[in-house]
Amino acid sequence: MSDRWRTLLKFGLPLGMIALLSMALLLGKLSHSDSVQTTTRLLMGTMVSITTSHPSPMEADQAVKRAFAEMSRIETLMSSHQSSSTVSHLNRVSRETWSPLPAELAQLLRRGLTISTQSQGAFAMGLEPLTSLWGFSSDKAATEPPTQTALEAWLKGYPATEPLSLQTLADHTTQLRLNGPSVGLDLGGIAKGYAIDQAIAVLRQEGIQNAIVDAGGDLRAIGRKGDKPWRIGIQDPRQADQVVALSLLQGDISMVTSGDYERFFLYQGKRYHHILDPSTALPADSGLQSVSVQAADATTADALSTAIFVLGAEKGMALLDHFPGSAVLLITDTGKPIRSAGFIGEWLPKPSPPTTNSPSKQP
Ligand code: ADP
Ligand code: MG
Repeated sequence: MSDRWRTLLKFGLPLGMIALLSMALLLGKLSHSDSVQTTTRLLMGTMVSITTSHPSPMEADQAVKRAFAEMSRIETLMSSHQSSSTVSHLNRVSRETWSPLPAELAQLLRRGLTISTQSQGAFAMGLEPLTSLWGFSSDKAATEPPTQTALEAWLKGYPATEPLSLQTLADHTTQLRLNGPSVGLDLGGIAKGYAIDQAIAVLRQEGIQNAIVDAGGDLRAIGRKGDKPWRIGIQDPRQADQVVALSLLQGDISMVTSGDYERFFLYQGKRYHHILDPSTALPADSGLQSVSVQAADATTADALSTAIFVLGAEKGMALLDHFPGSAVLLITDTGKPIRSAGFIGEWLPKPSPPTTNSPSKQP
């Protein structure tokens, strides 16, 4: 073997690696030049923002349009506020009778029903008559709670087990039955997460690798923002403009928050919010102000955050055990944070109060 060959064998590999490394550095550098753009639209009763970090703004624009179209399709399918939606139609035709269920809805309901079972019915997709009674399903905010008589009548008509049933026929199609006068589909606790997952799937199909779909604080992030992770703040449940925790997310992760501050009214000094406990017909009162769940997908995170909000800290943590890889940050009634192992995020120190008695001018 010639000296030249020997030298090549000795140094060829490292030289090749250096070449690869500089390629990687170059690519890394290219990804820094990704353009970051955000588009916001009003969908599903909330502001939905899609942010992409992608080399071609035009490609990103096209992908984002398709992702919004997909979310809008899901809203038309699953909203219980729109009388023309498929869910509203099912609410008219499935009460105490079997009726055909579109495959996509069947699949989502099956996922949700697993969480209903695991949460002993705390997560419930059949509460439409109750959310209507409370006025949380209409655009016009309620100002006072329903009467005791109305709540008792609802409780009487709501089955303790299996409020809604699915059956698969020989041709593999599914049928739905709503069991009782108090049951109607309301997918408000899971559909937003599903829409986020579908939007991410569309973005990926369109070649976008770095993005965040954020529906009013419920989100899924993929990839990175240029060369940095996505920075996500968790809102203070009692001060909308304050952030209490900061999560640096990258890769593929969802984070969904359920809180008593999202939809509520005050009546005689008491807060009545939109997450209802089916066992009492009242807003859940489990000692929590907010529940932020991190999970592999937004559908799971959405359903879990609602379920844990109803169950409270102890039972909620036990529910989480069924979902390896998911984690939670709870904020209790007293504002105390409780974090499960694996939750990505830092609790931020409270800004120190002003030192003088004069009205503060915070920067
Ligand atoms: P948001 O939609 O405000 O982010 P959630 O994901 O916690 O909050 O969902 C709350 C919505 O879910 C309510 O507005 C209602 O439509 C529905 N819902 C209320 N109580 C329950 C419950 N116990 N289980 C499942 N869904 C519920
Ligand atoms: Mg939810």
